[in-house]
Amino acid sequence: MDAQTCIKKLGYVGILTFATVDEHGHPQVRSISAVHYEPDAIYFYTARGKNFCRQLLADGHVQIHALTKFKEMIRLSAVALPVPDDEQEHWKNVIFEEQPYLTNVYPGDTRSIGIIFCIREAQIEYFNLGVHPIERYYYTMGDVKPEVKGFEITDACIQCGTCEANCPQGCIEEGEPYHIQPEHCLHCGNCFENCPAEAIIRLE
Ligand code: SF4
Ligand code: SF4
Repeated sequence: MDAQTCIKKLGYVGILTFATVDEHGHPQVRSISAVHYEPDAIYFYTARGKNFCRQLLADGHVQIHALTKFKEMIRLSAVALPVPDDEQEHWKNVIFEEQPYLTNVYPGDTRSIGIIFCIREAQIEYFNLGVHPIERYYYTMGDVKPEVKGFEITDACIQCGTCEANCPQGCIEEGEPYHIQPEHCLHCGNCFENCPAEAIIRLE
């Protein structure tokens, strides 16, 4: 698995959920299939009148989510920017050729109401619930820092074994201190809540 494979899997899913935040700070999600995938970028089309477009132009931050039929979750945290004016027509044509239904939605010149946005930098989270133990990996696209989440065991650990016994994925190893295998961790917090020494910290 790597970032490019995650992007390919998004293409196989085909319909992605895009999340933004509105002017009141409330979450807004919508499903979008007017998307073109390059190995190092994602292009998508939306109309200027849509709140989605206004929210992107105001801020650009977007989260994209997809779930494959194999229970693999792929999430991108990114900033979407409009492509330069002299590239708009090219990418519109690419997306409309790949998604013929769009010519029914925006026939003829009405497609000019749309804008092409591009994502070149993103944090990518891959989370596979279809295997045991579960798998979780982080990747990046472009020049961004990888995401850090979950829990970590500190030197305050007294090696009592409570966390190991309570971990639903069996992903805590004995040691001094005990150790969480981050690639198999659910982030459920059961170890964190039950540690008698408060030796487990949440990573931010
Ligand atoms: S429950 Fe806490 S003290 Fe006990 S082994 Fe786990 S991390 Fe260490
Ligand atoms: S957060 Fe849950 S899955 Fe992860 S190590 Fe702790 S108990 Fe195990």
